[in-house]
Amino acid sequence: MRLQNTLKNEIFISGQGLHTGRNINMRLIPAPAETGVVFIRTDKGSIRIKAAVSSVSDTTFATTLASEGVKIGTVEHLLAAFAGLNIDNVYVELDGPEVPIMDGSSLSFVSAIMEAGIAKQANAVSYIRILEPIVVIEGSSQIAITPYEGTRITYRLFYTHPAFGEQKMSIDMSAMNFVNELAPARTFGFLRDLEMLKSRGLARGGSLDNAIVLGEKEVINGNKLRLKDEFVRHKILDAVGDLSLIGLPVYGHIIANKSGHTLHVKLLRKILLFRDSWEIVSPSMVTSSASELAAQV
Ligand SMILES: [Zn+2]
Repeated sequence: MRLQNTLKNEIFISGQGLHTGRNINMRLIPAPAETGVVFIRTDKGSIRIKAAVSSVSDTTFATTLASEGVKIGTVEHLLAAFAGLNIDNVYVELDGPEVPIMDGSSLSFVSAIMEAGIAKQANAVSYIRILEPIVVIEGSSQIAITPYEGTRITYRLFYTHPAFGEQKMSIDMSAMNFVNELAPARTFGFLRDLEMLKSRGLARGGSLDNAIVLGEKEVINGNKLRLKDEFVRHKILDAVGDLSLIGLPVYGHIIANKSGHTLHVKLLRKILLFRDSWEIVSPSMVTSSASELAAQV
């Protein structure tokens, strides 16, 4: 059982939004225990959007949250940094519709959080313990969660591309594993998709600086990967961010095959629906949060 954490000091980060191409200013602010992660659009009357499954409005290419018609896009790499470093409570102020993409990984967020410091809070963390397997299948893609004492992610991806075919990785989640093995892994995309997205007015900020870009045969930007298996590591990083939307750490083994944002969120919705398949383990054994979570469905 660990105590809840927030930031010791505020953090200011500015950078380009991947889809809008706009410069976005972001402030990460310490928040009281039991707050969770709350996004605040300062350019839209300070509307608040809770990082929760019920806030997810879109999972095409990135994870988008919305409330009262106001959106925050590309939240997953920031959420992954919070989950990876066990930051439970934080306000995220933004003056635009997206979290800055930075270099396409979680590294900038992790470095900024470690520099600002992490502050322990008085309340202990409750967590969700999976009791029975829950499976989502869609075409040739699958994702499942099974009982496990801790959090483990096993991910397999497969592309018929000369630069990489199958990549597979299995990792136990800890702050050290997140920082060393996952945080530096950048997002990746195919040049043909980037051109298609730009023609639809998306990915305006997409460039060789914030993604691994794959041409027909190879990695275009210098063929230099930061880590062996960077592609599957990034998919796990995405999963860490998306799965944190359930609001509490989850003890379970996530096994994903050719999955992505859409399936991650479908798994979360199914977990919330299958109430008998998990329990909330709370230091004070308060059960009210179980009904709050179930109400998100
Ligand atoms: Zn990503």
